[in-house]
Amino acid sequence: MHLKIHNVSITLDDFHLEADLDLPSGELITLLGPSGCGKTTLLRIIAGLYYPDEGTVYLGERDITRLDSRFRKIGMVFQDFALFPHMTVLKNICYGMSEKGDEAKKKAFELLEMVHLSGFEKRKPDELSGGEQQRVALARALASSPELLLLDEPLSALDAKLRRTLRRQIREIQQKTKITAIYVTHDQEEAMAISDRIVLMDRGSISQTGKPETLYSRPENSFAGGFIGTANMIRIKGQIFSREMGCSFETKIGTITLPAPIPCTNKKNSKGGKRYLYFRPEDCMISSHPDKRSISGTGELLYKEFGGDFQYLEVKSEDGIIRLKCKPEGEFHTGDMISWSVQPENCLII
Ligand code: ATP
Repeated sequence: MHLKIHNVSITLDDFHLEADLDLPSGELITLLGPSGCGKTTLLRIIAGLYYPDEGTVYLGERDITRLDSRFRKIGMVFQDFALFPHMTVLKNICYGMSEKGDEAKKKAFELLEMVHLSGFEKRKPDELSGGEQQRVALARALASSPELLLLDEPLSALDAKLRRTLRRQIREIQQKTKITAIYVTHDQEEAMAISDRIVLMDRGSISQTGKPETLYSRPENSFAGGFIGTANMIRIKGQIFSREMGCSFETKIGTITLPAPIPCTNKKNSKGGKRYLYFRPEDCMISSHPDKRSISGTGELLYKEFGGDFQYLEVKSEDGIIRLKCKPEGEFHTGDMISWSVQPENCLII
């Protein structure tokens, strides 16, 4: 079901949140951001556990802004599993179903099969592993045939390997059922892996919304650029001068003159505010003879990591650190002087 969060705001003591979002039906949408940015608060507004001070929440055509959470047709999965400890798996799943008797049982067995737990129906929650409990919680959330599924850091209590397995299962189930799901996480890798759309949040506001690929390749501000993956950001001092075919600007690593215009994704910040030349470590190469078109520099190697099929290097520059993720060729030692370069078409201005 399509979810619209229209000009919603809430103030909780010192914390203020504002959100305006239009989230299409059938997608898995992640609320992503650092601790305290307001992910859970926004999820609670959607769930009806908080009412916003202003704005409207629509689920499909229904205005649910002030509707009691019990009547919202929403399924929830929390981080701490929250199963009824005295009930069997089967009873946990059937609880809250509108179907009764054999019809409810049939549906519960189908859900158990979907979460790969056929045969577990008679067990109690304390006879299940954490991952199994969370899959029961997912089956129970889906049992009431909700219009929206909310998942609040559902994997945070599980170990890294299990998280990867379970996030894939959650994604497969969401795609199979075509339910709209809102998934809260602070783990950007998890968000990138499973989401149709990411809502990136920063200190109570939406920093950027888009497909994972878009957030990665075209961040619209320095927060998005810095939060998603690893990035290089060189501060632009003063104005960007447009030339016939390109542009030039001052930075701490020197004047940069580019033969082609560089896309600027940060529309909000076009007047005033800090601007950066932005590029990814994997687009940055070791090159002792950079061509004229490229942006380049030389600095001391501060840190290196071997990653199997790549090496990660940190090179000192006048503007901090330049990060490179490149083929594991050449043997470098910290303290060596490294020349790097990046092509203008791999850069953005944010
Ligand atoms: P985390 O990833 O750590 O769970 P989050 O992004 O989900 O963080 P929220 O739980 O939404 O963040 O909290 C956002 C801010 O709102 C925090 O500073 C928190 O202390 C504050 N906050 C949340 N609920 C209340 C409340 N009921 N009263 C006062 N402040 C609150």
